[in-house]
Amino acid sequence: MRSGLVGSAHVVAGFVDADGIQESVRDLRRAFGDAPVLHTFAAKAASLVPVLRLLARSGMGCEVASPGELAQAVVAGFPPDRIVLDSPAKTRAELAHALALGVSVNADNFAELDRIGELLAAKMSTSVLGLRINPQVGAGAIDAMSTASLSSKFGVPLRDLGARQRILKAFAERPWLTRLHVHVGSQGCSLELIGEGVRAAFELAEEINTVAGRQQVTSLDIGGGLPVNFDDDEIRPTYADYVRQLRAAVPELLSGRYGLVTEFGRSLVAKNGFTAAVVEYTKDTGGRRIALTHAGAHIATRTVFMPEAWPLRIAVYDSDGRPKHAPECVQDVAGPCCFAGDLVARGRTLPELAPGDVVVLLDTGGYYFSTPWSYNSLARPAVHGFTTHGPEIRFATVRREQTLAEILAESGASQADALLFRNADSTAAHARLVQTGA
Ligand SMILES: *Cc1c(COP(=O)(O)O)cnc(C)c1O
Repeated sequence: MRSGLVGSAHVVAGFVDADGIQESVRDLRRAFGDAPVLHTFAAKAASLVPVLRLLARSGMGCEVASPGELAQAVVAGFPPDRIVLDSPAKTRAELAHALALGVSVNADNFAELDRIGELLAAKMSTSVLGLRINPQVGAGAIDAMSTASLSSKFGVPLRDLGARQRILKAFAERPWLTRLHVHVGSQGCSLELIGEGVRAAFELAEEINTVAGRQQVTSLDIGGGLPVNFDDDEIRPTYADYVRQLRAAVPELLSGRYGLVTEFGRSLVAKNGFTAAVVEYTKDTGGRRIALTHAGAHIATRTVFMPEAWPLRIAVYDSDGRPKHAPECVQDVAGPCCFAGDLVARGRTLPELAPGDVVVLLDTGGYYFSTPWSYNSLARPAVHGFTTHGPEIRFATVRREQTLAEILAESGASQADALLFRNADSTAAHARLVQTGA
């Protein structure tokens, strides 16, 4: 049994550029100049504690959306007043925990506001409390990533009949409500669309404050969603482009009257990571050259299921890690998952792949290897960090590859008998059958 526990021998791994992440944080800071901004990192983009700790030490805050992400943020060392909890389905227990810790909470809907009110009545909290609005400014290029469409599941709609009045009333009745939150979407949303959403939140804040006769809303959480260019190495749009667009859309936003919170994820990490996978076999089928590699839907889930929306660049290296210079040919790059659509690239012109080569999925530092899918019980890949500062490249383990023992444990191995409800009867019956020779 034990000797059968052979791991998958490091045939695929993620890599994180620690210097690159810090450079991206500096770009973000520089773009906002000295406006009062808490920049938080959207944990779901790279939910790895060492990545979160690097960001915490860089002075960032953290946006979380589940008990797991909140626990990761705390362990990573983000102080509670730099953590923002945003999920759309927070339980009463999660809310109580967040309020006790003092992390900021953005309520998704009026019912959640009621729950928060009840909890506050029982116990005071230092948490900054906000309400997420859906400015309903429309969808971007990828529907599944657009949170400000007419009927998106997120936030309180702003343009529905009577909605604005209801929001004004909610603030009037709850003096502890001091923040508005808006996140227009991730990837595929234009800067114009994001700017429109932020303007809607700003105008609503002004109206709430006018009605209140005081500055009740003191901060605006303007979300994340800066799109990433997956076509080449250039960073575009940049954070500077984003801030230019914000200034155009909401000239008073950076005046200092409102504290700001940002929640960028993908734009801080995508280009600071890549996935490397070994080519196991190549073959020709129906006139098609196919490379069978170890990078598939368990790592590049979105790319495999929505290839038009999430194309990835692929670079090819030989088994010594040198760029491969073989003649190019049209190939499918397939993964190890057992379904036909498990392709990370279709009909792609690349240097002819051979067994032992390494394919590199570029720009996968966010939402790829950090968010694996356990299909086929494939191991969560190892993640390595590196720095190129100093005389030589240094590596560190960010996450070990999942072991077979861990896969077994997570698949209920310690409860292997759980479903043998009639175990005693069936064992006895089986023994009778064997005896009678049936
Ligand atoms: C996912 C998410 C973000 C981050 O989006 P990116 O596209 O990764 O920048 C920010 N805020 C909220 C509420 C989110 O759900």
